[in-house]
Amino acid sequence: MKNVTELLSELIRIPSNSGISNRALVDYASANLRVAGWSLREIPYRDTADIEKVNLIAAPPGQSADRGDVDLVFMCHTDTVPYATDWTDALNPIVKDGNLHGCGACDVKAVLACLLAIISQRPAQSGPDGLRLVLTADEEIGCIGASHLFAVDALRPRRMVIGEPTRLHAARAGKGYCLAEVTVEGKEAHSAHPQQGVSAIYHAARLIRAIEELEYGFREKTNTFFDPASTTINVGTITGGTAKNVVPGSCRFQLEWRPIPGEPADGVLNTVTHIIKRLHREDPNFRAVIQPLRQQPGFETAADAPLVRAIESLTGNPATSIPFGSEASIFSAVAEEVVVFGPGDMRTAHSSRECVPIGELEAAVACLRSIIDRA
Ligand SMILES: [Zn+2]
Repeated sequence: MKNVTELLSELIRIPSNSGISNRALVDYASANLRVAGWSLREIPYRDTADIEKVNLIAAPPGQSADRGDVDLVFMCHTDTVPYATDWTDALNPIVKDGNLHGCGACDVKAVLACLLAIISQRPAQSGPDGLRLVLTADEEIGCIGASHLFAVDALRPRRMVIGEPTRLHAARAGKGYCLAEVTVEGKEAHSAHPQQGVSAIYHAARLIRAIEELEYGFREKTNTFFDPASTTINVGTITGGTAKNVVPGSCRFQLEWRPIPGEPADGVLNTVTHIIKRLHREDPNFRAVIQPLRQQPGFETAADAPLVRAIESLTGNPATSIPFGSEASIFSAVAEEVVVFGPGDMRTAHSSRECVPIGELEAAVACLRSIIDRA
């Protein structure tokens, strides 16, 4: 029987960045689950590049993976971000100074390895009623697999533990993640005759100034569990114009916002849409459109929720919040208690520094096993 470090090493060796199919990784997990007598339900879909992606629902011996209403779901995404070409050992796990290094080591193959270790070590018996292990695809490019599972109503869990590196803290709240692209249209003209054109860049500047002021308004609504405590807004990229002597005919920028829990995901979107309408009323030459690309709300589970309290007492670590987006945003719409949890530190993830402390990996096995035993 393989231990958690061996399982994690094998998972790291299977390439699974979001650009390729996650089939090989799902097949590896499925083989381990089948040996333990678990029943499996695959929910495949094709991504935008027509590549097969697989979500997997696994149920303990004697239970049907087709049942939607379940008690406790452990969710792990199967994909990683792509790794830099100079990280030659990305898929060649190495133990150094008590840490296991490799692509996906903490984000989030570690949690999957923990759960596979726990399941394979359980004596052949039926697990707690309503326990499920769920693997998802395409988390790193916008929680697409989890959104797909949610859309087909395959799963309505009461409680969820979502695997992400939290240094073994129960993350009970997270900001949402939203992204839109704004296109401001003007009219090109020779810059010696600017009155014959409409500068898309001047108009974009007008709109961006209004968005900057908008953030001051959002600062009034706070949730002190976060730092910063309010919804944040960022204009991350901007492009526009074609030449120094041409009045720019078009300007585009990306607008990102991270809403605190309780703030609607489309709050900033709706307000910016109103600002665009107002600017157009004030100046009919002002024309802009905003296209939403992602809209995930924040999530928050009560501090005294039993799942939060259980992880706090099992790990000795206080609950925390996470500054990054996760699948919790999607399933908090149906689940009563959602916690993000896992070994390792997200600050090493998405880089060639990615690793997981083996001590935390083993502590996570003990904690997750206790949660399952208490279910
Ligand atoms: Zn992750």
